[in-house]
Amino acid sequence: MPITKYSTWINIDLTAIEHNVTRLRYLTGTPVMAVIKANGYGHGTVPVARAALRAGAQWLGVARLEEALELRADQITSPILVLGYTPPERFLEAILEGVSITIWGSKQLLSVARAAQDAHAKAKIHLKIDTGMSRLGIEPANALSFAQEIVNTRDVKFEGIFTHYARADELDQVSALEQESIFIQVLGDLARTGIRPEFVHAANSAAALFQPNSRFSLVRTGIAIYGLHPSAERHLPVDFQAALEWKAVLSQVRILPPASGVSYGHEYITRDYERIGTVPVGYADGLRRASGKNQVLVGGVLVPIVGRVCMDQVSVQLDQVPNAQAGDEVVIIGSQGESRITAEQVANRWGTINYEVVCGLSARVPRFYH
Ligand SMILES: *Cc1c(COP(=O)(O)O)cnc(C)c1O
Repeated sequence: MPITKYSTWINIDLTAIEHNVTRLRYLTGTPVMAVIKANGYGHGTVPVARAALRAGAQWLGVARLEEALELRADQITSPILVLGYTPPERFLEAILEGVSITIWGSKQLLSVARAAQDAHAKAKIHLKIDTGMSRLGIEPANALSFAQEIVNTRDVKFEGIFTHYARADELDQVSALEQESIFIQVLGDLARTGIRPEFVHAANSAAALFQPNSRFSLVRTGIAIYGLHPSAERHLPVDFQAALEWKAVLSQVRILPPASGVSYGHEYITRDYERIGTVPVGYADGLRRASGKNQVLVGGVLVPIVGRVCMDQVSVQLDQVPNAQAGDEVVIIGSQGESRITAEQVANRWGTINYEVVCGLSARVPRFYH
């Protein structure tokens, strides 16, 4: 336990990530691309990548080239796809590192071909089709002619084709099924002219679990591998395990007299003699200010954060935990005794989603892996 050495820290259970990836492979019967963008959703890029690969993930998905290069620098040799934008100036680097990139237009194709020539290597590309997310990708109507351009371009390997759902995490599947059918139409158009990229993928975690026909040849699972629910409407199967715990320690505990103003602006004022503790964790670590809404566990009891959240510290009201003392463990996300705070509960308090909670955990909080 790093409890004596750090103010606040994050424990990541890599066994949980391996378990979740194994379960996803089994439940979907489809090869898995583990999506580890944004520092592995806050869990750490390289450790999560390695855990996912140990559990049989075949691909890694990232948002940016930098994330792919971090994996390669750590000697990770698996296929990697950059799902988002890659600046054309960096196509050469991607090709030299054997990283697959996403494209959706002719200008990009021209730059890729030029970079491949410079690299004396084949560029691996995945074509992104915009079937209804309206974010990134080529219009379905233009997909066939562009696909033909790709196959006629030297030094470019048409490795994959994909799309992304806007509403796969909802109970109402109308939108996701419509996107699926548009995608299938595009695949059919290409197949009729003999174009069949090896990797066809569409499903994020929610679709992988709840929309079986959209599994194609790869599922791109992010949130589920961390043991977090795709949405309030689409929960993981019960045996998935949350991998992340966020803890801190009580730095000081005092009885303050009535009418003591606590923290900046004295937003909280003690009404009586109150047991107030200080915890060295703040908004610079990813704990939102969310005035009056934060809670943590101390001694297995849910206690409120009182007064404003500071950059590096908060105050907690400990009247329900009379034995609490400096040095005791504080849980922001995770279990303590019989009690538990989930990332989803924190997200609800902040008016956001679990994805944003874990992605917002800053780099300065040390991560420990077990
Ligand atoms: C982030 C992302 C995913 C993973 O989504 P989850 O909901 O976390 O499973 C899949 N595909 C693309 C294109 C993404 O950007």
